[in-house]
Amino acid sequence: MTGAWLAKIRAAQLQRTERLCGQTVTRIPFGLEPGCDGEGLARTAPCRDCAVSPGQLHVPGCCIEACGRCGAQRLSCLCTDPLPVRQRRRRMGGGV
Ligand SMILES: [Zn+2]
Ligand SMILES: [Zn+2]
Repeated sequence: MTGAWLAKIRAAQLQRTERLCGQTVTRIPFGLEPGCDGEGLARTAPCRDCAVSPGQLHVPGCCIEACGRCGAQRLSCLCTDPLPVRQRRRRMGGGV
């Protein structure tokens, strides 16, 4: 691991919340992801994607991080979808 990455990990620990869909959302630390594949296991190894220790916050962009708003994978959830919510509903066939 490079020193630059360690600095990123340190910076990530200071970013306890993020803005999603106009809400301030508390980020989920490594090991506390809802429904993650390692749920119930005592996590002792660092995150396999961003290398943080259990209980630390993931480096932004980590594929293991869960969304604090919807609980899905942070990278693939729609909370940061650039489309306004109203447009997204229409795309899903709301028909209003
Ligand atoms: Zn991670
Ligand atoms: Zn989400």
